[in-house]
Amino acid sequence: MPLANGRSYLAIPGPSVMPEDVLRAMHRGAPNIYEGELVDMTYGLVPDLKRVAGTQHHAAIYIGNGHAAWEAALANVVTPGETVLVPATGRFGFGWAEMAEGIGADVQVIDFGRQHAMDPAKVAEALVADKAHKIKAVLGVHVDTSTSVRNDIAALRAAMDAADHPALLMVDCIASLGCDRFEMDRWGVDVMVTASQKGLMLPPGLGFVFFNGKAADVRADMPRVSRYWDWTPRANPEFYYQLFCGTAPTHHLYGLRAALDMIFEEGLENVWARHATLARAIWAAVDAWGQGGPIALNIKDPALRSHAVTSLHIGAPLGTNLRRWTQHEAGLTLGIGLGMGTDEDPQGDGYFRFGHMGHVNAQMVLAILSTVQAGMTALDIPFGPGGLDAATRVIALG
Ligand SMILES: *Cc1c(COP(=O)(O)O)cnc(C)c1O
Repeated sequence: MPLANGRSYLAIPGPSVMPEDVLRAMHRGAPNIYEGELVDMTYGLVPDLKRVAGTQHHAAIYIGNGHAAWEAALANVVTPGETVLVPATGRFGFGWAEMAEGIGADVQVIDFGRQHAMDPAKVAEALVADKAHKIKAVLGVHVDTSTSVRNDIAALRAAMDAADHPALLMVDCIASLGCDRFEMDRWGVDVMVTASQKGLMLPPGLGFVFFNGKAADVRADMPRVSRYWDWTPRANPEFYYQLFCGTAPTHHLYGLRAALDMIFEEGLENVWARHATLARAIWAAVDAWGQGGPIALNIKDPALRSHAVTSLHIGAPLGTNLRRWTQHEAGLTLGIGLGMGTDEDPQGDGYFRFGHMGHVNAQMVLAILSTVQAGMTALDIPFGPGGLDAATRVIALG
């Protein structure tokens, strides 16, 4: 008998759960976009966004999703025919590479597969081989949401410095910002992109591009940048409408104010620590289950796992069967095995994902885990004992 009626839980890796405070902040009539409290509030958002990003430099906000943020970042620093290097560790690395191809860049991809982090030494090799310094930028992904790998961005910077190559370091933090520790300036990142619907707990609709002085200099040397994507007036507006190149995303801004308030009330370090502990509870459960059955974490090394999203393998068609069961029988929607298809399993039915980014607490993660265990029991999927005990121990004892 389905037991799905009641409050459902969307545990996919974006859009993430929206806090009541965010929903309430957005539930209002249209504000004046020419003067008054919206205008004042918007200017106050910018320093707070930079604080979350770990940068003292510049921020530009776009009405758009993560793909728009990718496009915006590239449009300001890459012209057709220039080369970018993409160390790919999953679907989203390839996605960014495709966006660069779309603006006419010559894209070099180093494919690290779907179960490994990038190897900074391999990136350095490619940069050292580029004697003519044709590579304009390295496009990295902090957390690749398809594989749930977390790349070491500071190590990538160090490798680029050791190679003594002037390429910009551009990083996609769409899945990780506000979940996994990220420090733009300290880690030497030149451009960072993110979006509203993951760790920032908003609906999709805002893309953010952060950039430092080195990236601003590259922008200044561009022959031209399309007016809409140009980050210069957005980051340093003379008039309010320039912040968004037109009408402001009014309600998203109210939601963003509420979300940032929540993050600072908890404290950014505490937000990161919460995500880390919740992720360890998930890993502990899956490790125990995997001792007696097919379920396994996609990323073997805990140091390389995201704290925001977890990709799991269970074998086709069980990943899809399990997702269907948790949704229809228990009201829990899990993420699909995105970008994990193979010749034997073209749809990636052997994979599924937990989104645990943003507005997520201990009881929610325990609900994911116990519902998955119920699903495995219902579907006769074997699993080792002690998974829920292991997770509750992490929750109880840290
Ligand atoms: C979600 C995501 C994207 C794409 O964002 P959209 O809003 O769907 O365009 C890109 N990169 C990463 C790492 C993501 O998690």
